[in-house]
Amino acid sequence: MEQPGGPIPAFSTVYIERPPLEKQAKEAIEQPGCLLRIKGSRKMGKTSLILQLKTHAIGLGYRVVHLDFRRVDSSILTDLNSFLRWLCKSLTYQLKLEDELDDYWDEDIGGKISCTSYLYDSILERLETPLILVLCEIDRLFEHQQIYQDFLPLLRSWYEEAKQEETAQKLRLVLTHSTEIYVPLKINQSPFNVGFVLKLPPLNLEQTQALVRCYGFSSRLTETLAKQLYEWVNGHPYLTQLALHHLAKEIEANPDNPEDKLAHILEESATPSGIYSDHLRGCLAYLQQSRELATAFKYVVEIDDPILLDPILTYQLESLGLVKTISNQVVCSCKLYREYFKNYELDIQNQHPLTNYLRALRSENQTLKQLSETDELTGLANRRWFNRTIQEEWQRLGNQGKFISLILVDIDHFKLYNDLYGHPAGDVCLQKVAKTLEECVNGSTDLVCRYGGEEFAILLPRSNNQSAMQVAQRIQEQIKALKINVENPKVICFPENILTVSIGVATIIPSPQFNWLELIEAADQALYKSKKTGRNRITVSEAFNSLNE
Ligand code: GH3
Ligand code: MG
Ligand code: MG
Repeated sequence: MEQPGGPIPAFSTVYIERPPLEKQAKEAIEQPGCLLRIKGSRKMGKTSLILQLKTHAIGLGYRVVHLDFRRVDSSILTDLNSFLRWLCKSLTYQLKLEDELDDYWDEDIGGKISCTSYLYDSILERLETPLILVLCEIDRLFEHQQIYQDFLPLLRSWYEEAKQEETAQKLRLVLTHSTEIYVPLKINQSPFNVGFVLKLPPLNLEQTQALVRCYGFSSRLTETLAKQLYEWVNGHPYLTQLALHHLAKEIEANPDNPEDKLAHILEESATPSGIYSDHLRGCLAYLQQSRELATAFKYVVEIDDPILLDPILTYQLESLGLVKTISNQVVCSCKLYREYFKNYELDIQNQHPLTNYLRALRSENQTLKQLSETDELTGLANRRWFNRTIQEEWQRLGNQGKFISLILVDIDHFKLYNDLYGHPAGDVCLQKVAKTLEECVNGSTDLVCRYGGEEFAILLPRSNNQSAMQVAQRIQEQIKALKINVENPKVICFPENILTVSIGVATIIPSPQFNWLELIEAADQALYKSKKTGRNRITVSEAFNSLNE
């Protein structure tokens, strides 16, 4: 077997599938005008997956252009015009089309329009089939503001154009990146909050076994070796394969005791002379670029419990593959890293204020997590919890093609209630409403959250419009049944002098065309309509009607 390191060819037996990843990616590129993002830390198998995708696309008769931003000259990355021309030329050459770039390029009209009209008129129009444009390592652009600030919105505009334009639908964008996206872009200009995202997970134990089996071990041995490997590198595909490669070489020389041999290789592997030394040195060099990052990671390594870190640090460590997140807390991603970095002086002073800060955080961590995700007054999930959950459910239900419903509940004239009875009474009222909402839903599947002051959000996975409507009606009735008295001698706000709520309901099957914010927006619009049309009522959003039939 070859020395591991490069991407795995499409038909290789050592390509281990990670269901449903491959299927989802293949389905995504069959969607007109798709924008697929593949996110994974270094050596997690992004390019190997791309090779699978390319083969699939070619099998469908699509054309494929694969561009890697690591291969672009630095000088090209300093100027938008040169960059866009490079892009058009690369497309033309790879597709073996006639180069008409100069006919389309018009300095007066600017690079973005010239590039777009070249793409649509000279390339897509001429192709009979969809074009898969793979842009690898898009992170490289993040260092070049003069490029990304125009190019990323341009990608987004092509994606938007495809919603209406048939020619534009031929373009299917696939972007890969390893680091999180920090570049500041307006929400409606960024290509990173639309389309479909796939995050490359590590191999699980079963998949690790499948990889070990490729090296021709007996099934008993496969099981033991896979377990040893999995405990050490936690399914990292490259690290697993590298160890197997070394083991295979040693066994060739002497076939005795493969388990002991592997144990020895792994034991040595956390030292500077072990098999992972290059990889580990690379991680170390990256960590040492930022003292904050190094300190944070040192801290993660020192303790075994999951901890809460600043989100940016979390993303940076996660994209390096050094940590994994559980809920929103992080732990070191594998034993190898813990062993290696534990013994390593990360060249940081203990006195650094951040170290102390992190130490303090350690003891408070559990409490902090609770505080940060629950609402103190009502004990309900807070907005942060809600936002995390809706994103997770969006992805999960989208994959399953199942409905998700959202109900927004806002207490009517609550300001008046506070004015009449005082804030403490208002608080008690909020607690009663919160409790009632919890009683109206299925606690094991649905999430009730305090969305804002006197506004509540209820997330109903796998509920269609009808069942969400039933829940909404139950809520409306049960709140009335509380008979919370509101008597205002001057203005009659509540017909029966009883507190009421207004409700907005929205339902959708998550799909790459939309994002979860649009579901919230739809429910919010429906709630607004309930308010505007007299309060104490339920409005069902019609935003996704055509999709929900
Ligand atoms: P509408 O029917 O249009 O929703 O009218 P409203 O008065 O309910 O809405 P508005 O947004 O004008 O006022 C919300 C009020 O909710 C104002 C604020 O004092 C009250 N509120 C928000 N959070 C709390 C809280 O934690 N405790 C109490 N007691 N009141 C709160
Ligand atoms: Mg209100
Ligand atoms: Mg309100």
